[in-house]
Amino acid sequence: MQFEEEIDDWDFQREMMVDTQLISRGIKDVPTLRAMGTVPRHCFVPSDLRKHSYQDAPLPIGDGQTISQPYIVALMTEAAQVKTEDRVLDIGTGSGYAAAIFSRIVDHVYTIERIAALTKKAKGCYTELGYDNIECKVGDGSLGWSGKAPFDAIVVTAGAPVVPESLVEQLSDGGRLIIPVGDAFGQRLLRLTKEASGEVRTETLEYVRFVPLIGAEGWHSS
Ligand code: SAM
Repeated sequence: MQFEEEIDDWDFQREMMVDTQLISRGIKDVPTLRAMGTVPRHCFVPSDLRKHSYQDAPLPIGDGQTISQPYIVALMTEAAQVKTEDRVLDIGTGSGYAAAIFSRIVDHVYTIERIAALTKKAKGCYTELGYDNIECKVGDGSLGWSGKAPFDAIVVTAGAPVVPESLVEQLSDGGRLIIPVGDAFGQRLLRLTKEASGEVRTETLEYVRFVPLIGAEGWHSS
């Protein structure tokens, strides 16, 4: 009974999150709002911080990494403009939450994380929730996932010094790459769209601050 009451409370908190943090800031895409209102964010947050799961903030998830602020997850999801049949690559699995959001919108999601312990925890969450359309890999996401390319959308949730060429190469015609580019103090969140002609159009969506993308086409690890 206590468990059921707790679940109801999470549902209420998640509903409030969608109304006060997402809709109020201009997120309109219905599949994005539906996914944000469905996926239990508290399942991806460490147990000692669980009561903060629906707050308007990023939270630590261990290994010096974070689960992004809900608004930023929604903004990036909406910006990716995905349809059900799209192939999505999420780079920086972290807690697994952002990939879980995409998994409620598209048929299949690929996600890469460089820290094996985080991948293991994320996989555990997917198993618990019965989310069986997310394929995880431990590796350097700055190089993409060439064996599964092309992707209709690639979403990077770590800040890169420049746009990794491998990621642009792995976009399908019309594919979108959402990526924060800048330095440790802040980044511009970019959307690059690869036109059928091969030309790449770049838009700035927002100013953000992400942990670094560490890898061959990212920052070098110290
Ligand atoms: N999307 C995550 C979520 O929903 O919890 C949040 C990601 S966290 C802000 C950024 C993640 O990117 C970290 O877990 C970090 O280890 C990972 N990362 C950094 N460089 C990477 C790389 N080259 N390849 C894959 N993951 C990387």
